[in-house]
Amino acid sequence: MTALNRETDHQHWMNYAISLAKKGLYTTHPNPRVGCVLIRDNQIVGEGYHRKAGEAHAEINAIASAKGRTKGCTAYVTLEPCSHHGKTGPCSQALIDAQISTVVYGMQDPNPTVMGRGLKQLEDAGINVIGPILSDEAEALNPGFIKRMTEGLPFIRLKLAMSLDGRTAMASGESKWITGPEARLDVQRLRAQSDAIVTGVGSVIIDDPSMTVRINNHDKTVEPHTVRQPRRVVMDSSLATPPEAKILSGDGNRCVFYLPEQTSDEAKKSLEHLGVELLAGETAVDGKIDLVAAMATLADQEINEVLVETGAVLAGAFLQAGLVDEIVVYMAAKLLGSNARALFELPLETMEQAVQLHLSAMDKVGDDIKLVFTPDYIDEAD
Ligand SMILES: [Zn+2]
Repeated sequence: MTALNRETDHQHWMNYAISLAKKGLYTTHPNPRVGCVLIRDNQIVGEGYHRKAGEAHAEINAIASAKGRTKGCTAYVTLEPCSHHGKTGPCSQALIDAQISTVVYGMQDPNPTVMGRGLKQLEDAGINVIGPILSDEAEALNPGFIKRMTEGLPFIRLKLAMSLDGRTAMASGESKWITGPEARLDVQRLRAQSDAIVTGVGSVIIDDPSMTVRINNHDKTVEPHTVRQPRRVVMDSSLATPPEAKILSGDGNRCVFYLPEQTSDEAKKSLEHLGVELLAGETAVDGKIDLVAAMATLADQEINEVLVETGAVLAGAFLQAGLVDEIVVYMAAKLLGSNARALFELPLETMEQAVQLHLSAMDKVGDDIKLVFTPDYIDEAD
């Protein structure tokens, strides 16, 4: 076997570190997903990933698994090693103490106040630092953590289910079971990797969804014991959510955004009584809850990734507010007819106003098609 060249080596082992980081997909919140592998002579000496906030970082786990054989190794780590004294001590110092000779990183720490400090500490200690390597892939591990650190907002994914004719619900609002069981299971995975699920009071009243993660032992891609319940969030200006709504049931983390001037004291009391957190929102120009401010509040609460599962009106409002980072559409081979409701409530008049989307992925999921889009807000200024 011929030796790989240096560039390919770096990409190969960084890919391996990325695959380790992915093991924390459902569990690291609010921390980033990070993987680390220690290599000597193109052989794995140790490996690790960050599993859970409060537990050891990826580098510490990799060093521990090497059982004292770390001297002279190259460490591949998907994110710049931390230099601050957190719950588990700085990883840069641990790499120095382990006598690692080279550190190859995927991306710098996105937090502007610490960016580059971990790398500098390594270089100051005489360690060879190389990177960024596979930065796009490394960044894709943590879209929410990066956006929260750089913009003070969570990464917002909008999930929609529609028929082939672009309809999401009957005129009555009835919308259950448009897609098949495989697509619905895929949605459970999207929920499991999210820190919060956001919906509107209209959907709560019509569909009464629980919005909990239900992963069973048949799903081999997710270990059920790793699943945590995301925060369930309702946008409800006047607190019209019925206290018996399923989304408010259980002990989970539930909150409702409302507008104080539109809400009675009784409505507040009836929800507070259930242990639901009530968050006073800001009023937007249209008299509704200011979605940008609400999402910034969630980011302040260390929410990295938000999944919006709602009806056409709130979905359209998120899109018009420029908040949507990704749209996931499940399309069923079904026709709901021309009286059914459209995907978005977007009162556009001319082709010029059309919202441009980029298709980034397309997969068959059971009998349905999964489409992933990125909205293009860039042209708005033109
Ligand atoms: Zn660390």
